[in-house]
Formats: sequence, C-alpha cells, structure tokens
Amino acid sequence: MSTVEANPEVASQPVPEPHDLELTAARNANVGAVTVRRLLPLRMRRSVGAWCFVDHYGPLDVDGVAGMNVPPHPHIGLQTVTWLLAGNVLHRDSLGSEQLIRPGQLNLMTAGRGIAHGEESPTKHDPVLHGVQLWVALPSASRHTEPAFEHHAQLPQTRLGGFAITVLVGELAGAGSPATTFSPIVGAELTAAGRPASCLLPLPPDFEHVAFVAAGQASVDGVDLAVGQLLYLPDGRPEAVLAAPADATLMLLGGVPLGEPLLMWWNFVARTPEEIAAATAAWRAGEFGPVGGYQGDPLPAPPLDARRLRRPV
Ligand code: MN
Repeated sequence: MSTVEANPEVASQPVPEPHDLELTAARNANVGAVTVRRLLPLRMRRSVGAWCFVDHYGPLDVDGVAGMNVPPHPHIGLQTVTWLLAGNVLHRDSLGSEQLIRPGQLNLMTAGRGIAHGEESPTKHDPVLHGVQLWVALPSASRHTEPAFEHHAQLPQTRLGGFAITVLVGELAGAGSPATTFSPIVGAELTAAGRPASCLLPLPPDFEHVAFVAAGQASVDGVDLAVGQLLYLPDGRPEAVLAAPADATLMLLGGVPLGEPLLMWWNFVARTPEEIAAATAAWRAGEFGPVGGYQGDPLPAPPLDARRLRRPV
C-alpha cells in the first residue's frame, strides 16, 4: 500500500494521549453577603472522593463593614469544613458550640442526622476575609450519625520541595490530621513559603483529587492553574508534579470515589426526595433547635421544587 498523502510523516507523529485531567471554571454564587467562587459540584461531577461542595471567597475588604453574615440554617448528611487564609469567622450551632476561627485553624462540623449553624464575621474583625467552605458527604453507613462540632487550633504541618503543607483532614506527605473523617479522604493547603516551590507529591493511587489555587497561581502536572479554576485528577495516579511561585497557595482535596449517588438540595445531602422533604419540614417546624446568640432571623428554606428532586446524581 502506498500513501497518497503529500506529507506522510504526519502519520508517524505521536498521537496526543487522551487528556484525562479536567480543568473547569468556577461560577459565582452569593452566600451571606459574600460572593463566592463555586468550584464544586459540577454538573457532570457531583463529588470527588466524598468532597461534594467547594466554595472559595476573597480576599475581601471587610474593613469597617459587617462582612460575612450567614444566618442559622440546617444541614444533614455532611460535614462542613471551614478554612481561612485571612480574617476571622464566628461559628455558632444548635449544639451550643461557639467558636471563633482564624487562619491555620479548622472548624469541622458533622451534621449527621441534623444540625443548625450560623457563621458571621465577629463585630470586631480583621480587615481582610479570605477562605474556603467545603462539604464532605457522609457515606450511607454514617450519614445518620449524631451531630458534632470540633475545632482544631493546630494542625500537622510538613514541608516538601519548598511547600509548607498543612493537612486539614486525612494524611498527606507523612503528616496526618486528627480531624474526624468517615471515609478515606484528604484535604490540605500547600503554600510556597517565601520563594518558588516545586515537588513530586506522592498520592494514594486509589484516590481521585482536585486542586485549586487559593492565592497566586500554580501548575499541577503541567497544567497552569489560576484562581477560580479547578483541576480534576482521576484515580490511579501515584504522584503529582506541583510548582508554584513564591507565596502562592494551592488546595488539594481527594478521596476514594464515593460510589454513592447524592441528592443535594439547599443545605441537605441525602439520597431520596423524601429525606429532603422531611428535613425541610423539620427545619420549618423548628426541630433542628435554636442557634443561640445570632441577632436576626434564621434562613427560611426555599420552596421545594419537585422537578429538581427527581433524580439523585
Ligand atoms: Mn452551613
């Protein structure tokens, strides 16, 4: 067989590997007077490991203004992870917890069968607010567990290739967090401490991951990342190549694929429309209990839209 093409060499060029990394852009959403970059869930990817919700906000100038104001609202079936890069936020919940959080600290609230909480900038607060708000879906076996709140003032830190790594949950680069988890997950902050950093970061091959930049820029496995972008790394990858200029901060989240269809509506993570309807009715009936100390009304549940509840995804 002979070629009829003018440039047969083209056929011998390497064919690009199918690109199994996915880069997506955040959409803007409003949460309690703050505009956030919502990076997860995506229409085609509702969870990564058990991580099912990723908001990044700021840095915001909150000098002399009220700042964050998220009135009391309920959760079921998830854990909330509050992490700050700058500023401070006051958490109150229906268990009676009241906790101010600062950068480098972790607030972890396990909703389980049900909890209500509010988050706001304290009356006297730092001039800049910058943080991430994350949800972890509880697996079926644990999702009706008792609600709980934990605050970790100090978390394990390690260093790798110029990155200062703080492990929020799970384990990374030999450092393990004491935070309570219900499925194999990891969440970590990696900051290029004072100068450019690069490393080969070992990953559990049975984990899938996402990475996003919270400050500055970075590259992960050769893909450039800017603020407002999310990079998905499928499971089966034993390592990632990370690089970042001085003072950039990268967040890495991952876990064993959850393998459970989630039904997420408002602040509830469930499996069936009936559970969502029951939780909504319970909130409207005041059954989640009061959140003490908040000046103002709790958040009303939005109207239930049966069409959006039809199918778990
Ligand atoms: Mn909440």
